[in-house]
Amino acid sequence: MADNKVDLQECWNEAAPAIKTAVGDQDYATWFSRIFFDSHDEQTLTLRTSTKLVLDLAGKKFSDVIISKVSEIAGFTIGLKMVQKKEETKANAETPSPEKPARPADTSQSAPQTPKNRNKTNDMLNPSYTFDSFVPGDNSVFAFNACKAISENPGGNYNPCLIYGGVGLGKTHLIQAIGNHLVQNTKLRVLYITSENFINEFINSVNSRTMQQFKNKYRRVNVLLIDDIQFLENKKETQAELFNTFNDLYDTGRQIVFTCDRPVSELKDISDRLRNRFERGLSVDIQPPEYETRLAILRHKCVEKNFVIDDDILSYVAQNVQTNVRDLESCLTKLVAYSDLINKEITMEVAKELLKNSIRINIDRSTTSIAKIIKSVAEFFDISPYDIKGKSKKKSIASARQIAMYLARIQTDYSTTEIGIEFGGRDHTTIMYAIDKIKSQLTVPNSETQALINQLLTVIKAGNKQ
Ligand code: ADP
Ligand code: MG
Repeated sequence: MADNKVDLQECWNEAAPAIKTAVGDQDYATWFSRIFFDSHDEQTLTLRTSTKLVLDLAGKKFSDVIISKVSEIAGFTIGLKMVQKKEETKANAETPSPEKPARPADTSQSAPQTPKNRNKTNDMLNPSYTFDSFVPGDNSVFAFNACKAISENPGGNYNPCLIYGGVGLGKTHLIQAIGNHLVQNTKLRVLYITSENFINEFINSVNSRTMQQFKNKYRRVNVLLIDDIQFLENKKETQAELFNTFNDLYDTGRQIVFTCDRPVSELKDISDRLRNRFERGLSVDIQPPEYETRLAILRHKCVEKNFVIDDDILSYVAQNVQTNVRDLESCLTKLVAYSDLINKEITMEVAKELLKNSIRINIDRSTTSIAKIIKSVAEFFDISPYDIKGKSKKKSIASARQIAMYLARIQTDYSTTEIGIEFGGRDHTTIMYAIDKIKSQLTVPNSETQALINQLLTVIKAGNKQ
C-alpha cells in the first residue's frame, strides 16, 4: 500500500477559514482562541483546551464542524479527540514554535484558493446513521446483515458490495452506518462520497490540473463508500477513473461499497468493464417495507425522538404511506412539529387533517403514470386493471400484464422495484423477466408484439394529452 501520510496538523491549520465561516466570527473568536492542536496519528486529530468548561461546551458545540472541515482537507473522515491539558509554558503560548499556529491559522477569507483546498467536496457521514438506529425488516435484513459483516471485517468476504433499491429505503443510512462504525472503532481511513461529488471532483481536478492529488486522495483510503452510482451514467471519463481507482483498491484488499437506485443491469451507458466491477462481489437489494416493518420503524423513531403518540395513529400512517421510509419519516416529523407547537398530544382527527396532503401526494406520485398505463392496457385488452395487478395466470391476462410492465419501464422513470410495487407488490425480478421476454419478442421482425406495443403507445400518448 502506498504511504501517503496526511499531516492532520496541517489540515487543521488549513481548515481555519472554513471553520470560521461555518461558526461565525464571534464564536470563532470566543472559542477557537482556546482550542489548540495537541497531537495526531494517522487518522485522529487531538485538540487540547485548558479548561473543562471549554472542553465540555466547545466539544459538544463544534466537534461536528471541526470533523467536517478538517476531513474535507484531509480527504477522509477523521476521528477527533478533545482533551483538557494545561498549556505547557507561558512562553510557549506566545512564542512561535514549530507547532505554531496552534489554532487554525486564519488565512483570511480572500486568500487565493490553492488547488489543494479547491476540490474539497467529500461528503460527511451523518452520525445518526448507525446500525442501532436502523430497523431491519424482511425487506432489508439481508442488506443490513451484509453491511454489519462488512463493518466487522472490511476487505473480507463481501468485497466489493453493492446495495440497491428504490429511493428512501435506507441505502444511504446503511452505507454510512458502515462508515460510522469503522471511524469509531478502527483506525482505518474511510471515505464516503456520493457519485455526484466524485464526478464534480474529477472534473475540477482535470480543469485545475490536480489529477495526481485526486488520485492520491482515493488511492490512500482503506474503505471507499460511494453512494448513488446511477449518476455515473453517461460519464465516460469519470467511469474510467473510477475503474482504475477500483482496481487499485481492490487489488490491495481494500473495501469498496456502492449503492444504486436500481439493479446494475439496468444502468444505461456504463462501460462493460465498470459494470463488471460493480457486479463482482456481493449484491444485495432493499425492498419497500411491509406494513409491520413500517409500523416498527415509526415506533422506533418515536422512541428516538421521545415522542408520545397513540399507536392507532402510527398504524394509520403505516397503512397509508407505503412508498418508502423517507415519506414515513416526513409524516412523523409533521406530527412532532405540530404537537410541539400546540404542546398537546395529537388526536387521530388532527393527524388525518395534518397528513391529508402528504398521504394524497404520496399515492399520486407513486401511481399516476403507471396507473395510466395499466388502465390503458386493460381497456385495450378489455380486462380490468385489477386483472393486470392481480395474480391470474390465464394466458391472455398474463401476457397483457407483461406488456404493461414493459411499457411502464420504457415510458416512466420508475425502477423495476417501484414498478413491482404498482403491479400488486411483485418482486423486481418478475418485472425484469417480463421486460426481457417482451424485448426478445420485439427482436422478431414485424412481430405481433411490436404492432401491439405501437398501438398501445398511441393510446397512452392520447391519454396523456387529455
Ligand atoms: P436512500 O438512500 O435509500 O434513498 P436513506 O438512507 O436516505 O434512503 O433513507 C431515508 C430516511 O429513512 C433516512 O432518514 C433513514 O434514516 C430512514 N430510514 C430508511 N430505512 C430505515 C430503517 N429501516 N430504519 C430506520 N430508518 C430508516
Ligand atoms: Mg441515498
